Amino acid sequence: MKRCCPPNLSGNKGLFAAFIKLAHLLILWQLVDSRNHRSEYTLILDLHTHSIKSDDGRAKVGNYCQWIRSKALPIDGFVLTEHRQFDSESDYSALAEKFGLVILKASEVETEYGHVLVYGVTEALTRAFDFSSINLPLEMVLEASEKHGAVAVPCHPGRPRVGMFAHTDELGVPEGVRIVEIYNGGSRDDEDQISIENARKLGYLGIGGSDSHIVSHVGRCATKFAADISTMDDLVEALKGEDFEAVNFKH
Ligand SMILES: [Zn+2]
Ligand SMILES: [Zn+2]
Repeated sequence: MKRCCPPNLSGNKGLFAAFIKLAHLLILWQLVDSRNHRSEYTLILDLHTHSIKSDDGRAKVGNYCQWIRSKALPIDGFVLTEHRQFDSESDYSALAEKFGLVILKASEVETEYGHVLVYGVTEALTRAFDFSSINLPLEMVLEASEKHGAVAVPCHPGRPRVGMFAHTDELGVPEGVRIVEIYNGGSRDDEDQISIENARKLGYLGIGGSDSHIVSHVGRCATKFAADISTMDDLVEALKGEDFEAVNFKH
């Protein structure tokens, strides 16, 4: 009679277990290896800039573009994160085309934990909370952003008063943070260091942005992406995909 079952491996149990273990190790090594080499970063964006639309911003968007091109800065575009508002009116598509740059719009809001960048602002999200408030509850901003498909990122978290880590001793570590800005062009190196160390400790991912308010500060810090990004939807997807790296061009 023909055998229908696999041969009995009990005699070779040790060998078989060793083989399985080796296979697991090989798979793990490949995963780690592919993670190390996972990205050919193709696009660099400054994720934190302010224009004259912000009360303290002195830079015109067109001048940012001219500066980036005339100084041959190694960035492919920038995101305007105007303070306490979402600028739904301005259309920078002609400038973006003229200079071959990605120009996107987000927002910087203010919470009891300091300032927070919000990427992927929709009209519905602008109705979910008052962007002009200076004391929004961070967890509510995180939750509302998530609900509306946006991503909220505490910025310059290593700075006193306006940075998240200045408040975590007193208020505790907030729920729901996944990404923080670890390189900020307006922060001192020791403040960035606080951001980097706390982000590492808490398992957060890091982005970089210049926080420029004047033209010559644009591109001081930025974020590298593997994905090709030309719209805010692309950027939100890339942030959610967690395949990016903060870069510091300050020095
Ligand atoms: Zn700020
Ligand atoms: Zn800012």
